[in-house]
Amino acid sequence: MNEHLPVFHHEADVCVVGGGMAGLIAAVAAARHGARVLLMQDRPMLGGNASSEIRMWIRGAAGKENRETGILQEIELENIYRNPGMNYSIWDSVLYQTVRQEENISLLLNCSCLDCETADGRITAVTGWQLNTYTLHRVEARLFLDCSGDSILAPLSGAAYRVGREGKDEFDEYGAAEIADRKTMGNTILLEARQTDHPCPFTPPEWAYVYPDDESMYNKNHDFIKIGVNFWWMELGGEQDTIADAQEIGEELLKVAYGVWDHIKNRGDHGAENWELEWIGFLPGKRESRRCEGDYMLNQRDLEEGHSFPDTVAFGGWTMDNHDPRGLRFDGYSSRHIQTKVPYAIPFRCLYSRNVDNLLFAGRNISATHMALSSTRVMATCSVMGQAVGTAAALCIRHGCLPRALDGEHIGELQRCLLEDGCLLPGLLRRQQGRFRISLSEDACTILQNGWERPHGKAENRVLLPAGSGFSLTLDAPAHGAALRLALDPDFSRESISSSKSVQKFAMRTHIFANVPPLCMPAPLLKSARLVCSFADGTQQILSVEKNRKALLRLPLPEGTQALRLESITAWGGGETGLYGVDIVSGMAE
Ligand SMILES: Cc1cc2nc3c(=O)[nH]c(=O)nc-3n(C[C@H](O)[C@H](O)[C@H](O)COP(=O)(O)OP(=O)(O)OC[C@H]3O[C@@H](n4cnc5c(N)ncnc54)[C@H](O)[C@@H]3O)c2cc1C
Repeated sequence: MNEHLPVFHHEADVCVVGGGMAGLIAAVAAARHGARVLLMQDRPMLGGNASSEIRMWIRGAAGKENRETGILQEIELENIYRNPGMNYSIWDSVLYQTVRQEENISLLLNCSCLDCETADGRITAVTGWQLNTYTLHRVEARLFLDCSGDSILAPLSGAAYRVGREGKDEFDEYGAAEIADRKTMGNTILLEARQTDHPCPFTPPEWAYVYPDDESMYNKNHDFIKIGVNFWWMELGGEQDTIADAQEIGEELLKVAYGVWDHIKNRGDHGAENWELEWIGFLPGKRESRRCEGDYMLNQRDLEEGHSFPDTVAFGGWTMDNHDPRGLRFDGYSSRHIQTKVPYAIPFRCLYSRNVDNLLFAGRNISATHMALSSTRVMATCSVMGQAVGTAAALCIRHGCLPRALDGEHIGELQRCLLEDGCLLPGLLRRQQGRFRISLSEDACTILQNGWERPHGKAENRVLLPAGSGFSLTLDAPAHGAALRLALDPDFSRESISSSKSVQKFAMRTHIFANVPPLCMPAPLLKSARLVCSFADGTQQILSVEKNRKALLRLPLPEGTQALRLESITAWGGGETGLYGVDIVSGMAE
């Protein structure tokens, strides 16, 4: 390294490299559990493939009862509130705010990790180059989380990793390649169009490919007006090296993307006369590159059979969506979908390195076979893994242990923390903490204390409270350092956020259609209420909840509260408020 370059030194408990959805959420989770976190992200904004630079919408497990909750849900609800028009710049700001509001996080944007120091099988420091300040940043930390997608810390630290597809035999995966190879899923540039009320001619750049007919475009479905496709199939590089050849692949994709838009506008009638090109990303999104090896490798059979693990800390439930490495150049539909069990469990052993003791990971680079990755890679799944790994890192710091030592009793503690923070863990239920009586029917109390906190099978499993109503809690003992914990209804079906089915699905837009109504806050989510706290001496203190956007609400109770009443309950939709759980828990001010 050139010694004339200024070097800034940082110290943290946990250093997270990569601020995509996995890294961002890992950083927030670790910070909220008391760790001092440094988040190093090489782009100017957060969110990785979900950011305005790439514009991929966040998907996860099928079925409303399996929707990802926790920090991801918090971000999605805040986005609905702040960004009803589904504008990508506002989405960037929501992600930025999510990190900025955490006092325990130091954020280094535009800073690309390029070096790492190791001793005794551990990483001791990483160094990043900050592009806009021409400075180096060296970060010493006790634990390192590689959430870079590309597993940058693996080659730098000597952590074991893989590239390519396993052969069928290695993990007994019938969907795998016959023989192992180094092929992967490819990279993609996305395209966004805007509907106008006037003709919008388009002149392609000279270097764009020319696709005179559908056959020359490998018969890919480009009826974006009818099916809203975002051109995910503009995919190349699966037969190359998606990291080493990234620049070449990206420039090839630009020729493809401008050529596809030229085809739509100028070659045949696609009903797109009044559509203009809003945006083409110059930064291709990656689906697959290096995968780290942990103590366990999640595989197709785990996903299909829905194996349970003693160290379950996250879940998935997207299909195995395995793209042909030829991508665009595969004639027809270039992905093969294989159903998984929904939800399937992801064990902690897939989230830390098998040979670098203080390295954890979350995102598309976890310890999973190519087949399993084809499902775990979706960003809601990456997000719940991020929450698990961030929380695990904070517990390691608290207990002074390494990730592998987080077994037995400590894994139970990690699982309890995640459940407490609203996460779904297949096969595990949250346990009620507080002792109190509620002024609601016995049936309602059973629902509110059964630990599911979401729809369950065919049952809605929630209590609906009429507008303006309320309920009371009488505590067995006066509250000390306690909070009222409410598991509220974010409308798991998302039907109330938009009349458009595709918007309900993604809570984000594909193309900019005219006359799409703005997003609404979920109708059954609590918007406002009064909390009346009563004390032994007969006095009262009144707190209020205004414009609530959280589905998991913790309201700190004044010391000595003996009874409380939540009243004047109002939902965002003006009708009934849905409630999945009520408890009195210790601490954790919001
Ligand atoms: C075209 C396309 C379509 C897809 N479709 C979907 C879909 O419909 N829904 C869905 O949920 N998922 C989809 N995926 C998959 C999903 O986007 C990825 O699997 C996911 O983004 C992986 O998340 P991540 O956080 O691991 O990585 P990323 O989102 O890639 O985030 C990693 C971040 O780390 C940063 N970084 C990398 N190297 C360094 C470094 N050296 N130093 C500092 N920072 C670094 C990167 O810039 C990036 O911001 C799609 C992917 C593509 C490309």
